[in-house]
Amino acid sequence: MLSQQELERFKVQLLEERRKIVSDMDKLVKESNELGKDGTPDIGDEASDLSNRQLLLSLNEADRAKLMEIEEALERIEEGTYGICEECGEPISIKRLEVKPTAIYCVACKSRLEKLQKRE
Ligand SMILES: [Zn+2]
Repeated sequence: MLSQQELERFKVQLLEERRKIVSDMDKLVKESNELGKDGTPDIGDEASDLSNRQLLLSLNEADRAKLMEIEEALERIEEGTYGICEECGEPISIKRLEVKPTAIYCVACKSRLEKLQKRE
C-alpha cells in the first residue's frame, strides 16, 4: 500500500498535469477563435487554415482523454483505491506510478491485456 505521503505526492503531480492541460486548452481555443476571425483568405491560406483546425481538434481529443485519466486517478485517490490494480487487486509498483501516475493496471496485467488485444 502507498503511504499517505506518497498519495499526496501523486495527487500534487496529477493536479499539476491537469492544470497544464487545461491552460493548453485555453490557449488552443483562443488561437482557433483567432483563426476563425480571418476575413476572406485566398485558397492557399484556406488550406493551411483547415489543417490547423484539424490539428487543434486532434490535440484536444488526446488532451481530453488524458484529462479523463487524470480525473479518474484523482477519484481513486479520494476513494482509497489508487495504486491498486483494477484487474488483480494487487498493488501497482511505485516505480510504475512514478512513470505513469494514471496507471490502473500492474505491469503483469497490463502486458497480459495487451497480448489479448493483439490476438483479436
Ligand atoms: Zn494486476
